[in-house]
Amino acid sequence: MSGDTPGAGGSDEGGTPAGEGSAGNGHGGGGQGSGGPGIGRRTLLIGGAAVLVGGGAIAVVAGQDQATRLWYRVPGVEKPRKPGELDHVGAEWVAASSANWRRADRPDDYAVDRVIIHVVQGSYQTALKVFKDPAHQAATHYVVRKDGHVAQMIRELDVAYQAGNRSYNERGVGIEHEGFVDRPEDFTDAMYASSARLTAGICERYGIPVDREHIIGHVEVPGTDHTDPGPHWDWDRYMKLVRAAGTGARAEGSS
Ligand SMILES: [Zn+2]
Repeated sequence: MSGDTPGAGGSDEGGTPAGEGSAGNGHGGGGQGSGGPGIGRRTLLIGGAAVLVGGGAIAVVAGQDQATRLWYRVPGVEKPRKPGELDHVGAEWVAASSANWRRADRPDDYAVDRVIIHVVQGSYQTALKVFKDPAHQAATHYVVRKDGHVAQMIRELDVAYQAGNRSYNERGVGIEHEGFVDRPEDFTDAMYASSARLTAGICERYGIPVDREHIIGHVEVPGTDHTDPGPHWDWDRYMKLVRAAGTGARAEGSS
């Protein structure tokens, strides 16, 4: 069995030119709007150091109402980026190392059409630690703890090195879950419920169908040697929860 941490480093971007996502990035610099997916676009406006300056303040931008969701779907509109900004209401911002993702402008430059489910093969704290480590060369957008607490570590705008497959990294939003693939007791009720709400929100934001073609395990990514989330992840239960959470979100949004 192969999980995500530790020791998964070095290959999760899969097929990326050497050095992409690490060389030449600076923290807090400008360069925004220089056009094209060239080097200027990779200049980081947010990153580990810059975000910590904000004292960990949580600013919620997505999911508040229909108006705030609209900018996701308007091509060519520069997305606002602020230190500590979140895509998932209620998440805690914990910045991943900028070596473990690359800046993008999704869904304009890459359509987002997959949610990728992972299991850490370790604790929540282990996941945060390795995703903050530039040597790991991999990270997911989110990490869900056994009690349902969610950390967001990478903006959904950006490409996380999560799946070992470049195309799936570019199209996917990744969610890690605390625990081990061979310990079904690690997958708690609170974790399933919280993760399902998170996935429902992602599907809502990008118009992703709630089905097993679009909500997949890391093991289902072509070319991966990872087995997570493993045989004990209860997909039937999870998909029911995602559908229920999505129905709730639409009901709220329509008011
Ligand atoms: Zn994984």
